[in-house]
Amino acid sequence: MKIYGKKNAIDALDRFAQSGRFPHALLLCGEEGIGKRTLARYVAMMYMCPNCSNGRPCMQCTVCRRIAERIHPDVVDGTYEVNEIYSNMGINKNHAKSFRQFMASCYMKPNDGDVRVIVFEALDKMQALEQNALLKCIEEPLEFNRYIFTAVNKTPVLQTVLSRVVAINVDEADEAGFTEALAENDIPAGRAAELFELCGGNIGAALELEESGGDIPYRTAAAKAAEAIAAGAELDCLAAFNTLKTRDDIFDTLGILSDIFAAAAASKAGKAVSGAFVGQSEKLASRLGSKALTKLYDETVKLYGLSFTNPNVRLFAAECTSKLFGTLDKR
Ligand SMILES: [Zn+2]
Repeated sequence: MKIYGKKNAIDALDRFAQSGRFPHALLLCGEEGIGKRTLARYVAMMYMCPNCSNGRPCMQCTVCRRIAERIHPDVVDGTYEVNEIYSNMGINKNHAKSFRQFMASCYMKPNDGDVRVIVFEALDKMQALEQNALLKCIEEPLEFNRYIFTAVNKTPVLQTVLSRVVAINVDEADEAGFTEALAENDIPAGRAAELFELCGGNIGAALELEESGGDIPYRTAAAKAAEAIAAGAELDCLAAFNTLKTRDDIFDTLGILSDIFAAAAASKAGKAVSGAFVGQSEKLASRLGSKALTKLYDETVKLYGLSFTNPNVRLFAAECTSKLFGTLDKR
């Protein structure tokens, strides 16, 4: 296992480790494909490696290797465990109940050492009821349990949960790290340079793009929707959303759109922006005012939360378009 880039995240983790006050619950935030899952395993090593130096795990010992290979018995995939219980419960299915059942099983001591690491992915996709069940369990942490959560966007996460975790932003790889990671996946430097243009330093997105033959629906839709909004073309925006087939795709599109609007607002304020969607955010910044961009951002985050409750993909696509353009009407 290797970590590419993520300098800011690693620096933050180093500071915690060196201060001797490493948090018991961490939230790793960053876009889809950025490497949150890999970083979660690295943090698990920080918690468990017996040979840490200056807080950094050796990444070579048996413990580290088992974590890297995902076979360490005390690094638990909480999302998977909860879903297993949920699907085995039969009638009266209740996700919140299975959260509590799973957490009760974590009261037993770890198998191998002094620490158990429980990883929950996509905290921002959990409904409030589930987050609350989870909260009850992390409020009084047992001394041997550690929690690592991941999320694309912090906003749908309950304030009460946020107050009990330390959030770390996972940054993109730089071009050198990006190229190296792609070379390991047999992608030559020339193609890597093209992919860097398209995906910024998002290695996961680049690999997915390459595997899918050049199209990731939610990334393409987000780019097209952003351009349509900059151009004031509501029908084009609807067409972009209508290419999406699942709620998860709409969810991921909204996640990227919120990033694009935030970057556009930053660019408007004179800050340099980077990443894969620079073209779109600059277009938006040149055509819309700061207030409109902030409204678009807020509306996107609201829609992000709504995607749990709207059962119909087509209707939700239409709702997204009309809500986003609605913010522009009220200018
Ligand atoms: Zn180690």
